[in-house]
Formats: sequence, C-alpha cells, structure tokens
Amino acid sequence: MKESIISLTRKLIEFRTVEKERINEAAEYCAEWLAANGVHARVINNEGLKSVVSVIGEEGPTVILNGHLDVVPAGPDQFIPYVAEGKLYGRGSFDMLGSVAVMMHVMAELGQEELPCKVMLALVPDEEKGGQKGTKYLVEHGLLGDVVICGETTNLDIAVQAKGVLQVEIQIEGVSAHGSRPWLGDNAILNAVETYKRIEELPIFSVSTPYFEHPSLNLARIEAGQAINQVPDCCIMDLDIRYLPGQDPAVLLKEIKGVVNGTVRVLSEGEPVQTNPNHPLIKRLQQAAEHISGRNIQMFGQHGAADTRFYAARGIPAVEFGPCGANHHGKNEYVDTDSLVTFKEILTDYIFRF
Ligand SMILES: [Zn+2]
Repeated sequence: MKESIISLTRKLIEFRTVEKERINEAAEYCAEWLAANGVHARVINNEGLKSVVSVIGEEGPTVILNGHLDVVPAGPDQFIPYVAEGKLYGRGSFDMLGSVAVMMHVMAELGQEELPCKVMLALVPDEEKGGQKGTKYLVEHGLLGDVVICGETTNLDIAVQAKGVLQVEIQIEGVSAHGSRPWLGDNAILNAVETYKRIEELPIFSVSTPYFEHPSLNLARIEAGQAINQVPDCCIMDLDIRYLPGQDPAVLLKEIKGVVNGTVRVLSEGEPVQTNPNHPLIKRLQQAAEHISGRNIQMFGQHGAADTRFYAARGIPAVEFGPCGANHHGKNEYVDTDSLVTFKEILTDYIFRF
C-alpha cells in the first residue's frame, strides 16, 4: 500500500502541474486511475481547467475530500522525485500531491465496500491561484457535503481557522517641484510613508484571538517617482492584509480610509475560515486522528488562505488536515512517507465512524 501511494505521488509530481496543460493532463490521469480501480470519476471542464469529482457510498452524510493538483513553480530538479530516509522529495510532494494520492487510494479501497456515509473526492486545478475555477466553481454548482477535509500541509494537526484576505491599493497625491527645491513641493512618497505608519498603528491590527496573535499587514508593492531631479507628485502602495476570523472587512476598510488622505481601492478579498472546533464531525476527526496516530492532535489557525474558505462560506465545517513534511513552496520540499500511510488510515477510520 505504502509503495503504491508513493509511486502515485511520484507520478503526479512528474506531471509538473504548474501550467494549465499539465494540470489538465494530471486530472485526466487521475480520472483514468480511479476508473481502473473501479471508481467512476467525472472530469469537469470549467473555462479550460479540469477538476475531477467522484462519489462513493449510497446514503448518509457526505464527507468531502478536497485536493489540489496544481503546484507552485520550482526548478527542473524538483520535478524528479526521489525517496531518501523515509522522505519523498519533489515539488508538490507535501503541498499536496501526497495527500491527493492518499485520497485516491481511499476511494479505490472503499469503492467496493458498504459505507456508512458518502465520500466525495474533489480534485481541483487552481488552489494556488485562488481556487476560482476549481473549488469555487464546484461549490457554486452544488457539489456540497456535510464536512470537508482539504489535505493541506498540517503535519496531522487540524486547521479549523484561517485568516481572511483584504488587498488594497492606496493612492497618495503630492505636488511636484524641481528636485533642487523640495520645499516648493509636497513629496507623495513621504506622504505615503506617513500614511503607512498611521495604518499600522490602527487598533484593528492589534486584535488577537485564541488562535491568532494578530492580523498582518504587508506593504507589498510601491510605485512612485519619475525622475531623480523631481519631487514625486503621486505614490501608489499596495497592502496585503490578513485579518482575523470575527473581524469585519468593511470595518477595516472604513478605519483605513479614515487615516488615508487619498484614495483606497480594494484589489481582492477572501473570507476567513471559522470552523467550530467543537463541531461533532470535527471532534470525530480529531478522535480518529488521535486513535490512529497515538498522539495529541492540535486544532490551530492558519495564516494563509486555502480552498476551505469556499465551503466555510456556505456554513459547512471545513478543515485543513494532511500529512507531515516540510519546505512547501521552497527548496527540498518533502513529505514523510510513513505519515502518508497514517493519513490514509485516519481518513478510513474517520469514514467508518459515521
Ligand atoms: Zn496547498
């Protein structure tokens, strides 16, 4: 079993699922693999990007296993997977092709059995790019369930919360003048720096919750200045804000506008995830994970966003839960191969707890 999971993960890594064509090839491959293992799967093409959906079980609540096939870019060597000392190296091994391979094995293994619930596998093509054409589309088209597990990089702990995203562009004006007489102008870059400091000091950025110490504010891009001998009369700065579950983005925006002498434009927004850690179906997952792994399983909050948010926005308890590993999005990404087997056993145990 372990060898079969490793070999499927390696195969998926080799697809180099960074670009559309490769992602679609991988999706077709997954559908064929499932069919060859006795599980019907359909490929859904949304605006040229393919997702794979498969359901097993006849009745009862639906457990959704969600995995993304796309990976972030990496050098060519990272697409040649290898195993060393119990670790499978390669881009996507941890985030999250290892999980995808496990979920596919769960479907294949349980496909012919009598199940106490339904299990829906959703393999999606664009989580790393925002999930709009994959998970968001599936959710909008009624592919919903009673509980969702996104197999992200959680080291077998359970992420019940995730910060929300608010990205804004702020435009600050000034007055241009000759660079040798700056006192005749009003420097827009310096005004922007002052504005940034005022935003940073807003009380909305020093809020904390049991899961998070504070929201985050990143000055990501700045665009200003045309000539070395000129006082700049315009500065545009882009802020990436990650706010806490419970905070209202409309209030954040209002507070920010209150200290900006200029225009504020929203570039993009994403809702936070706030799954109740005491929800019976989440507690049950924790129990299954503790039973199989023999260790304490923590509930925690993620700083970044994942596809859980699309389900959470519909009120469905959604968590990130996946195997152990390290260096996702970096060099030497790997997944611990024993933890892939543990992950598979936990999912199986969980399904039979219904
Ligand atoms: Zn991921």
